[in-house]
Amino acid sequence: MGFKDIGKNIGKGVKKATDKLNNTVDVQKLKYKISKKEEEIGEVYRLLGQNIVDASLRGETYDALVAKALEDVALKREELAALNRERIEKEGKTICTNCGSENDGKAEFCSRCGAKIEREETPAEKEADNETGSADPADETKTEENGDGK
Ligand SMILES: [Zn+2]
Repeated sequence: MGFKDIGKNIGKGVKKATDKLNNTVDVQKLKYKISKKEEEIGEVYRLLGQNIVDASLRGETYDALVAKALEDVALKREELAALNRERIEKEGKTICTNCGSENDGKAEFCSRCGAKIEREETPAEKEADNETGSADPADETKTEENGDGK
């Protein structure tokens, strides 16, 4: 271990810090975009409600308005999901395949439901359909809380 190594390590440290900073900035930007997108979705709902009431008051149908809003929301939700995926990746987080909550990238078990975190290394069954309302509390794998040495 000589001075060269020390220099190398400092270099690495600086690089790491810079990467981390860039990453943090990216995450901030993404979070901003995400909150904007959420606002947009909320605005669609707000306008839809208003338009339905107005149409009803005028004795008009509003099927077309609803259809348009559904389309709009579906699209924005996709964009939102993409932004969130990007953010999660940048933050080095892992999504629980069981309950969908975010976990620390190093977590072995989900902090919310206790399920084992599946890593991307397993290429099998990656196309799990996002079926809503399939909450399955059946197998509650009891995990002993690993107190991380506080
Ligand atoms: Zn979970």
